[in-house]
Amino acid sequence: MIRKFLLPILLAAPLWMLAQENYCGTVQTDSDLAWLREWQASYNGSGTRGSDLIYVPLKVHIVGNDEGGGRLTLRTLYTDICNLNEQFAPTGFYFYIFGDIDYINNSDYYEHDWLAGAYMFAENNVTNLVNIYFVGDPAGNCGYFSPSGNAIAVANSCAGTSNTTIAHELGHFFSLPHTFYGWEFGLPDIDDQEQVDGDNCTTAADGFCDTPPDYLPERWSCFTLPVFTDPDGVEFSPDETLYMSYSSDECQNRFSEEQQEAMIDNINGPRAGLLTWEPISVADVESAELLSPEDNITNLFSNYTELSWSSVENALGYELIVSLTPTFTAISANIFTTDTTVILTELAPEKTYRWKVRVIAEGNTCEDYTEYRTFSTGAETLANDLTDLESDGWMVFPNPVAAGSGLMVKAENTWQSGDLLQVFNNGGQLIWQEQPGVGAQQHMIATNNWPTGMYLVRMTMDGLVSSSPVFVQ
Ligand SMILES: [Zn+2]
Repeated sequence: MIRKFLLPILLAAPLWMLAQENYCGTVQTDSDLAWLREWQASYNGSGTRGSDLIYVPLKVHIVGNDEGGGRLTLRTLYTDICNLNEQFAPTGFYFYIFGDIDYINNSDYYEHDWLAGAYMFAENNVTNLVNIYFVGDPAGNCGYFSPSGNAIAVANSCAGTSNTTIAHELGHFFSLPHTFYGWEFGLPDIDDQEQVDGDNCTTAADGFCDTPPDYLPERWSCFTLPVFTDPDGVEFSPDETLYMSYSSDECQNRFSEEQQEAMIDNINGPRAGLLTWEPISVADVESAELLSPEDNITNLFSNYTELSWSSVENALGYELIVSLTPTFTAISANIFTTDTTVILTELAPEKTYRWKVRVIAEGNTCEDYTEYRTFSTGAETLANDLTDLESDGWMVFPNPVAAGSGLMVKAENTWQSGDLLQVFNNGGQLIWQEQPGVGAQQHMIATNNWPTGMYLVRMTMDGLVSSSPVFVQ
């Protein structure tokens, strides 16, 4: 994808770079690498690594188009953070989502060129956090780190499970160049071509002596290793396992020891602002339990389906995912909520859906989902608008209600002390009663274990009694 290139240095890029979607659009100049060069000059072979985890706060910006479309799913984001922490475990970095996710709706940012990207960073970056933007198209690349914008942009299409793009761009953020540094813009001077024997490893390419020569500034697969010849005439193949190379995601699995040490000193040095926040505690949590509706329930309202699950101690919230397929590939809803109940109002009629939930805790987006449950929507929709209360000032919905689902009572006026809600079965027996909360206008009745049939909901409000029939199906 050809984009406007505003940086003069990019005009020097060979044509093949412009003719296809690039893996990485990061451009680091010698001055961007000044800290690293100094670090490498003083590195004596042993680092300053400690045994404690280093908590790294991410400010996550999820960018959609003007209508909010195209956003990265939460499922992908949470899984990405878990992958990232595995990828950075040897370095001792532990990434976590700092505060709320920032949702941005802007088509110019969603598919941006370099200039719009620069505006996006300037407008939305938060200081002392790693600002990362998930977008549709980051200037024709899978991703890039902008040294001047001090932020990372990643394409949603490159952020899927098992991606290494995010780790790669974070490597740049923490000072690392490409292993093939110098080859991005054509053939480097012979002195800058790293030799296999390591003679010029501190001055050529990325300046790390434990990353072997790499002359491949384009995407390559580890299954078809190309062979190069160094200035000494020694043949070699690049190391496909390094995140800072351009090998395919499935080939990469590590930062070298020196790369790790540089990143550790970088976060303790010029990036130390990241460490000024209160430390987090990574909470381990139990799984939630799906409560209602029961599995395989049919004929729910497509415009009013209520899902609920158990509350879990130490949960920050819950990620709900609803899909038409058992593999959860076609996602119908994917939301984060601090509640344990969600009402879906935009499902399709006469469809079968699966739903499951995972618990999100502080510093922990890695818990498993529950087993999924299935439900089907019917042809009928809930006719009553929620604001369209019946003439006597209250309503009960949905009606009919699926056995096991919640039954909502909504009143026009607030309840006061002494008001009462009661439910009678069709034999006239009182089976449930509660006093609604003083000052509240809605109250949920659980229909767990109620047999199918007709019921009467009776409300006593300010001394007046009125009733509404409800059918449980
Ligand atoms: Zn890169």
